[in-house]
Amino acid sequence: MQFIDLEKQQKRIRDKIDQNIKKVLDHGKYINGPEMAELENRLADYCGTKYAIGCSNGTEALLMALMAYDIGPGDAIFSTAFTFIATSEVARILKATPVFVDIDKTTYNIDSNGLEDAIKKVIKDGKLKPRCVIPVDLFGQCADMDEINKIADKYELMVIEDAAQSFGAEYKGRKACSLAHVATTSFFPAKPLGCYGDGGMIFTNDKSMYETIVSIRIHGKGTDKYDNIRIGLNGRLDTIQAAILLAKFDIFEEEIALRQAVADYYSRGLSDCVTIPVIRDYNRSVWAQYCVRHPERDRIMGEMKKDGIPIMIYYPKPLHLQGAFGDLGYSIGDFPVSEAVSNDIFALPMYPYLGKEEQDMVISSLRKAIGK
Ligand SMILES: *Cc1c(COP(=O)(O)O)cnc(C)c1O
Repeated sequence: MQFIDLEKQQKRIRDKIDQNIKKVLDHGKYINGPEMAELENRLADYCGTKYAIGCSNGTEALLMALMAYDIGPGDAIFSTAFTFIATSEVARILKATPVFVDIDKTTYNIDSNGLEDAIKKVIKDGKLKPRCVIPVDLFGQCADMDEINKIADKYELMVIEDAAQSFGAEYKGRKACSLAHVATTSFFPAKPLGCYGDGGMIFTNDKSMYETIVSIRIHGKGTDKYDNIRIGLNGRLDTIQAAILLAKFDIFEEEIALRQAVADYYSRGLSDCVTIPVIRDYNRSVWAQYCVRHPERDRIMGEMKKDGIPIMIYYPKPLHLQGAFGDLGYSIGDFPVSEAVSNDIFALPMYPYLGKEEQDMVISSLRKAIGK
């Protein structure tokens, strides 16, 4: 059994992928080819935003969004302590200061009360300028974006939705990637919509933000690539990856339904022995991960590994305790919910084509380890 099996999906659409790649090889426009514009248009339509900008990966998508806001030294960037390093790494690359916030006990997304407290504290301390909030739609479920946008408006902060795990998710009937001033996603192969390499996208309704990011994406170009009006980088999505994503996007909606069925089956089989995920009734998750909690996590994982069940931990160490952020002065006890969750959470195999027999193996192995 694999944790995420990409082969089954590939078997299903291999012909279409081969055709799409062949088209790129035939026309030879490897950079900025027609597939890129087609993908940008289709995904912007799907998410309900005016603009989409293909990028090299989800990290650079976040970085370019912060660059477009002119983020730099002295700026405070508020985000969750419980996420992948990339979310706050980008602030540090620009020499801005990540300010961490604890998470909600049930959704593991950023806690809005904690967010407002953190903003007030930064204002009171008077050393940093509050500039931006980066909420993460963790494990495929959107953060409470209405609440977050309201707080951000009150303090005049920009919001970047880190939707790396939530492309296709819904919040109160609106799509992930459309829930903030700017949103970013990732097409890393294991994400819900993944390519065969690195890729990402930025979404916005703001025309001037769109134009700035398009410029940053190609070395700060002005009228052309050799007229450079700002500092940018090389942040493009390859045409060949766009071509692969077009083939995968055709079956994406169906795959979300398959993921939901896998999640429902796990939840029915496990609700009496571990803490199962809680999805708010106004949310539709895309189940980037199916994570459960149990105080004896490490022992259970050991037993399940003996049964050949692949288990992962997202995330074993919250960001405020990572060595990379050691200079920010946080310590154990600062964010008790993030710390507690990182000590007892673990992720079960999850992908659209995970069979019932395989799920039964996961469920019975977990139940056996717990003695139920
Ligand atoms: C995967 C991920 C990223 C980074 O995406 P890459 O394409 O790997 O650079 C950023 N934020 C979160 C929450 C992620 O899960």
